[in-house]
Amino acid sequence: MTEKVSRKFKRIVISAQTPISKTGNGPAVGGKVNNLLLLGNNSGNGKENGKRYLVKGIRGWINHAMMALARKEGVEICHTSDKTETQKGENLLPEGFHANGKCYPEKECIKHRLMGSITKQSKLKFEPVIIVSEANNKGKKETDTLAMHIATERRNVLGHKTKFGIQDFGERYFSGELTIKIELLEELTREELGFLLKAILYAPELGLGASVNNGGGRVQLKQITLQEVVRSRGFDKNGKVVEEEKTRNLWKEMKEGMKTWPIVNA
Ligand SMILES: [Zn+2]
Repeated sequence: MTEKVSRKFKRIVISAQTPISKTGNGPAVGGKVNNLLLLGNNSGNGKENGKRYLVKGIRGWINHAMMALARKEGVEICHTSDKTETQKGENLLPEGFHANGKCYPEKECIKHRLMGSITKQSKLKFEPVIIVSEANNKGKKETDTLAMHIATERRNVLGHKTKFGIQDFGERYFSGELTIKIELLEELTREELGFLLKAILYAPELGLGASVNNGGGRVQLKQITLQEVVRSRGFDKNGKVVEEEKTRNLWKEMKEGMKTWPIVNA
């Protein structure tokens, strides 16, 4: 590789595992499975087999963890909703939050600085988590996707006091090792980094996705790493694009950040 382009940035890499998760926007109704977004089918390309799914709801999970954590520490931040009341005038926002983006630009809160809103871009880019079924992936070459156990749970709803099924539907779930990457589009302050790291550490308390009260969405965090990444791309003599990443772990910076949030007002 003689000529290449490169970019230096930081990212957070989270290694985790889940015994069972069903992410998405609540239970699937009417037999549709909407908790994993089907991206395509790679059957027969020789590298990996089967369907590729996008795991939805990772950003929302961290968003809600930020809310829960800030509330616990008594720090007011944006709610995920930008609506403050219903048409009838009933308050929609719990105490301790303001409507999403309302703080910007005069008194921008720490969550808005990280996550943004319709008025300002986020500093965080959540890389898509794409999974394939490990059952179809045995002996295949490693790729950017994660091989996990994926299956559909069929469920029935029975009529009142009968054994007749009145509805049956499937919920797709996944299980196994999970890697989540969050790219930092701008440099974070120590305080912002600390808040983000603590929100990630708090997130398992909330559970990921649906069916949390029935044992779903339990996530065990195994490692969190702040990395400096230099990614470069060029081509070889045949025009084939060669991409490489050099990474360095920033343990000290993580530790400093952890000490910096929340700022205790004396
Ligand atoms: Zn705010």
